[in-house]
Amino acid sequence: MLKKICVYCGSAMGVSPAYTEAMRNLGKAIAANGLTLVYGGSHAGQMGIIADEVLDNGGKVIGIMTEHLDAKGLSHMGITELHIVKDMQARKASMIETADAFIAAPGGIGTLEEYFETLSNFQLGFHQKPIGLFNVSGYYDRLMDALRYFETQDFMRNTKTDALICEADPVKLIGLLKKNTR
Ligand code: AMP
Repeated sequence: MLKKICVYCGSAMGVSPAYTEAMRNLGKAIAANGLTLVYGGSHAGQMGIIADEVLDNGGKVIGIMTEHLDAKGLSHMGITELHIVKDMQARKASMIETADAFIAAPGGIGTLEEYFETLSNFQLGFHQKPIGLFNVSGYYDRLMDALRYFETQDFMRNTKTDALICEADPVKLIGLLKKNTR
């Protein structure tokens, strides 16, 4: 059953207010579905936006932070639970362990690393939890094109791109993840 949903997203804001609006809508949908948000625990960029939106709509937020970033003052001090872990490896492992499903929203290298580690662990059978891309304003269209190309070259054999969840509507995205949660 889907109870805790992990959102990987940018520690930056992005160029367009459309990203912030979309993250607010995702935060509202998470709270409206009675789900707990699991995320990187920062107040920075879109990470802070989604945490605040879930909290403002009466939802719970679990942040998983590294010692290093906490010492730099990046922790969001208003969330329901803040877990401090040793390093990025421990943080990714803890997010994968804690959540029942995952969303990669618009972000950069850190977000992509988290998305691909979660997807690669799924492909290897280390977990059976669903993972979706939040395709705000077509943000992930080019990534999907690249993955389709890899598939034509026979380097993506165990994950079919058609089976990947990629959705711009936050309510539909959560619905798809719910349907695919065991
Ligand atoms: P990026 O997409 O490169 O901005 O990285 C965002 C992702 O990496 C988040 O989901 C976090 O888990 C992690 N991360 C990167 N930078 C920070 C930061 N300043 N504070 C907290 N987490 C961060």
